[in-house]
Amino acid sequence: MLQQAVQLLQKVYGYSNFRTGQEDIIWDILHKRDTVGIMPTGGGKSICYQIPALMLPGTTIVISPLISLMKDQVDALHSLGVSATYINSSLSQAETEERLRLASNGEYKLLYVAPERLDSPRFQSLTYRVEVPLIAIDEAHCLSQWGHDFRPSYLSIVPFLRQIPDRPVVAAFTATATEEVTRDIVKLLGMDRPEIHVTGFNRENLSLSVLRGVNKTEYVLNHIHHHPDQAGIIYASTRKEVDELCRLLERKGVAAGKYHAGMSDEERKQSQEAFLYDEVKVMVATNAFGMGIDKSNVRYVIHYNMPKNMEAYYQEAGRAGRDGEPGECVLLFSAQDIQTQKFLIEQSVSDAERKSNDYKKLQTMIDYCYTQQCLRSYILDYFGEEAASPSCDNCSSCKNEGELVDITVEASKIFSCVWRMKERFGATLVAQVLKGSRNKRVTQFGLDRLPTYGIMNSMTEKEISDLIHKLIAERYLAMSEGQYPVVRLLPKAAEVLKGNEKVLHKVPKAPKAAADAGPLFQRLREIRKQLADQEGVPPYIIFSDSTLQDMARRL
Ligand code: ADP
Ligand code: MG
Repeated sequence: MLQQAVQLLQKVYGYSNFRTGQEDIIWDILHKRDTVGIMPTGGGKSICYQIPALMLPGTTIVISPLISLMKDQVDALHSLGVSATYINSSLSQAETEERLRLASNGEYKLLYVAPERLDSPRFQSLTYRVEVPLIAIDEAHCLSQWGHDFRPSYLSIVPFLRQIPDRPVVAAFTATATEEVTRDIVKLLGMDRPEIHVTGFNRENLSLSVLRGVNKTEYVLNHIHHHPDQAGIIYASTRKEVDELCRLLERKGVAAGKYHAGMSDEERKQSQEAFLYDEVKVMVATNAFGMGIDKSNVRYVIHYNMPKNMEAYYQEAGRAGRDGEPGECVLLFSAQDIQTQKFLIEQSVSDAERKSNDYKKLQTMIDYCYTQQCLRSYILDYFGEEAASPSCDNCSSCKNEGELVDITVEASKIFSCVWRMKERFGATLVAQVLKGSRNKRVTQFGLDRLPTYGIMNSMTEKEISDLIHKLIAERYLAMSEGQYPVVRLLPKAAEVLKGNEKVLHKVPKAPKAAADAGPLFQRLREIRKQLADQEGVPPYIIFSDSTLQDMARRL
C-alpha cells in the first residue's frame, strides 16, 4: 500500500521522498485509524490527506477555514490532474448547485468545504449519496477554545460527523501542538483511539535569535537597509504599534505594507496581495496577518514585540523560509512587551481557568527570551519533539561566544532576598529591595529593614531585574501565575544556597565594534542616531555598525 503512496507522490506531485511524518500519517489513515497530524506550517500536511484521498474509493471531504486558500488548493490539485472542487460562500447559488450535483455523482476525489456549510441539510444529504471514506480537518486547532484561533463555526463539524451513516475515518491537522488543544480536538471529534503524530517541528533552515535591549527601530531600519531585495514580515503586538512603525518606515523612504484588524477587508486584501506579488517587500502586521498565507520566499520575520505564547511565535516565525532556503527569525525583546501581553490578557479573557492558562504560556514565552539554552532545542522541547543535539549552532544562544562567569554570589543574594520577603512579592519589588530603593512600596512593607536591603546596590535595578528573569528562565526561581505574579524559590535555588551547586552564566563578549573602534566610532554612532531621529532621512544613510567602524578606521 505504501508503495502505491510513494508512486503517487512521485507521479502526481513530482517529489521523490516523503518528509518525516507524512508516511506514518498516510499509513494510519489507510488503515482506517483516526489520526491527528501535528506539523509546523509548511511541513506538508496537505499531502497527508490528499494521497489517501486518491487511493480510497469515493470522495474525501476537506474542511478548511479560509475561502481564499480553498481556491488555491483546488487550483493546485487541478494542475496536478486531480479532480477536486470547493463549495463556499464565494460561489453563486447556481454554481453551488451544479457542484453539489456533480459531487453527488461522485465526480470528485476531493471536496473542500467551509465549516459553515456543514449545517446545510442540502450539503449533509450528499453524504447519503456518495461514499465518504475520509474527512480531513485542516487547521483543526480552530475547534479548541484553548487554541489561538477558536472559530465557533468549527463546532458544526461535530453534529455533521454524527449524521453520516458510515462514520468515515477522521484526520485532523494543525500546527498547534499543545496538549490541551490536542485533547480538545480528539474529544470534540469523538475520535476513536486516535494515532497522534507530532513531527517535523525542526526547521533547520531558520536561524533563531532573541535580542534584548537593542534599539528596535534602529535595528529594523538597519536590517531593511541591508536586505533591500528580500521579502520580510515585521510583527508587532498592537495596531497602534503597527501604524507607528509603518509611518516611521515611510518617513525613511521604505515602502511597507500594513495589515491589522482595524483596516477594512478591501484594504487588507490589497495590502496582502501587494506583498504576495512582491510589489512591497516589507509587511508590518499584527498577528491577524498570515494564517494560511503561502508565500514561500519570505527571508526574514522580525518580531518587534514578544508575542503572547510559543505557538504564536513559532507559527509566525515559521513563515520565513518556507521554500527551504535560509530564513532569519529575530525576536526583539523589551521588558515593556511583558506588560503589553499582560494587559492584552486582562482585556480579552474573563474565564479564570483560561486566564491562568494564558499566563502560564506567557511565562514560557518570557523564559524563551531569557534562556541560555539553545533556542531550537527549547522550541522542540516545548512541542514535545526530541532535539537531535543540545546545540544547533544556528541560534543566538549557540552563537553567543560569551564567557561562562560564576554568578553564584549574586544569585545567592537574590535567593535569600526572595526568601526574606517570604516569597510574597514580584520581581520588580525584589530588585528594588536588593538595590536599596526608597520606593514607597519598599518602605510601606517595611522591606528596607530586611538584612538583604541594598546588598546589590552596585548594580542598576534593571540589571538586577534582568538577572532575576534569567534565573527564572533557568528554573532556579518560578513566577506564579496571574496579573501580579510573585517570585518563588525552586529546589535548584536551595541547592545553591546550601553551597551544593554553582550558578554559571554566559556573558556575551563586549561587541567588538564598540570596544576597539575608539572615540571616532562612538562619535559617528551619535551622528547616526541624530540622523535616524530626523524626518525624511533616507535609510541608506543609516549605516550599520560595521560600516561606521570601517569609516572610523579609514578617517
Ligand atoms: P502545511 O499545510 O503543512 O503548511 P503544505 O501542505 O502547504 O504545508 O506544504 C508546504 C509545501 O511543501 C508545499 O509546497 C508542498 O508541495 C511541499 N511538500 C509537501 N510534501 C513534500 C515532500 N514530500 N517533498 C517535497 N515537498 C513537499
Ligand atoms: Mg496547510
